[in-house]
Amino acid sequence: MANLSDIEIASQVEMDPIQDIAASVGIPEEDLSMYGKYKAKIDINNMKDLDDASQRGKLILVTAITPTPAGEGKTTVSVGLVDALSNIGKKAAIAVREPSLGPVFGIKGGAAGGGHSQVVPMEDINLHFTGDFHAIGAANNLLAALLDNHIHQGNALNIDTRKITWKRVVDMNDRQLRHIVDGLQGRVNGVPREDGYDITVASEVMAVLCLSNNITELKSKLRKMIVAYNMDGDPVTAGDLKAEGALTALLKDAINPNIVQTLDHTPAFIHGGPFANIAHGCNSILATKLALKYADYAVTEAGFGADLGAEKFIDIKCRLANMQPDAVVLVATVRALKMHGGVKKTDLNEENVEAVEAGLPNMKKHIDNIQNVYGMPVVVAINKFPNDTDAELAVVQKACEDLGVKVALSDVWGKGGDGALELADAVVEAADQPNNFGFVYDLEDSIEEKLTKIVQKVYGGDGVEFTRGARKQLSELERLGFTDLPICMAKTQYSFSDDAKKLGAPTGFTVKISNLKVSAGAGFIVAQTGAIMTMPGLPKSPAAERIDVDENGNISGLF
Ligand code: ADP
Ligand code: MG
Repeated sequence: MANLSDIEIASQVEMDPIQDIAASVGIPEEDLSMYGKYKAKIDINNMKDLDDASQRGKLILVTAITPTPAGEGKTTVSVGLVDALSNIGKKAAIAVREPSLGPVFGIKGGAAGGGHSQVVPMEDINLHFTGDFHAIGAANNLLAALLDNHIHQGNALNIDTRKITWKRVVDMNDRQLRHIVDGLQGRVNGVPREDGYDITVASEVMAVLCLSNNITELKSKLRKMIVAYNMDGDPVTAGDLKAEGALTALLKDAINPNIVQTLDHTPAFIHGGPFANIAHGCNSILATKLALKYADYAVTEAGFGADLGAEKFIDIKCRLANMQPDAVVLVATVRALKMHGGVKKTDLNEENVEAVEAGLPNMKKHIDNIQNVYGMPVVVAINKFPNDTDAELAVVQKACEDLGVKVALSDVWGKGGDGALELADAVVEAADQPNNFGFVYDLEDSIEEKLTKIVQKVYGGDGVEFTRGARKQLSELERLGFTDLPICMAKTQYSFSDDAKKLGAPTGFTVKISNLKVSAGAGFIVAQTGAIMTMPGLPKSPAAERIDVDENGNISGLF
């Protein structure tokens, strides 16, 4: 039992028909569009009261301490927590992101949880699911085709072909496509130019879909997306190319959230998957609103650590969706704390109580941020890994108790929902506490003020500096009037600072902004620190080499 793979565990559980799962929280069958027996989409156009805050359940945000490259188990804990909430008799549902094929065939694995805390059918969710990413890729690439065709047909908009910002996408880790030259072979075959691909999840269309409250908003955001600049340096948008109608048509089903189930048959809304590096990194607003409408406890996850994912969840998603969390769960692991305590990645499996101790400042800074910057009650969930020792776990537990912070050991990977009953009780209690929820900055602040507030309040740094290029971009954004938007930080997830090697809770640093770019459709300004990869590559030994299908169509090797 101990050595079953994720897909083996998942295939041993008999799923319930999806209409029964939907009915268990009161979703009527006529609102479902069936995608086979175990997957459905929910038609949002029928829902009149999605925006009625008085009808909403409690929103539980799951975030984490500064992670190791392997991930600290936010999705796994989220799934286990929602099952535990169901097990203690609460009407609960989860809203999380859809996985991208890039990591599925690459290194990290899927994003459907792990061990005994998974959403199923996991092989479908991890592969094509209901086709949302294909629709998003098609919409993105239609816009690229319209743009190049416009230039080929005479370029009436006077587009500067050296200032095209829109890229084609494919949902694959394919470094070969990062930089290409296209439009070759003479005048009938287009206008040659330097170009490149991004991974689909990095497309602005993905962020737009996830941040839209309805189809009208989707269309208006698509219209505002900037694809290039003209010879005067002014933006050219999808609207200028008359593209928004066709793009919305391609996305009309993709905007409807998907419903599946956890291994314990709790409803799971899995929808959208914006890249956390250059976008806000959480599932769609609509999926979260559906979970809030139908459940008394809606559990949702934000990508990366609480400095990045939770900050963007609050300052971007909550602001645009007019919602706020009721409690925050901070996932902590012994292995990440050991790394912050100076242990090398290769030695994380050996017991090292002193290193756990030495890593605690990282967790404490995140706790302090959640309580005092975001103004929220916090529960620490210690995600137990098989190699953790009692002595190591006790250090984390005691540190939380000394701070007066609720803490619960969670073994959802090993035991499913039953491994998080104490966590569920603590979350229910925390969600009833009064909170002091607030944003990190105001939209009226200048771009520089917003950045400074994030760095000083959340990261613990002294302030920001700009490269010369970024300084120029800043004044250009001000000239174009893009000043009242939230900031989408694109920073390493491995440190509070912009230097991945500064572990723990560093102080005395400034954050250097190297690039500032508006995502006018999604409605945020991306502030990049360092180089951010928007098309990942495959590792030396890709997961794809270990995936197979038998004569009956059963998949193996998906982790
Ligand atoms: P995140 O959402 O924070 O990126 P995931 O929940 O996707 O993290 O987990 C990352 C990987 O770690 C997955 O392969 C998952 O199965 C594994 N994992 C998570 N929690 C545990 C645990 N307690 N013990 C063993 N493996 C775990
Ligand atoms: Mg995750």
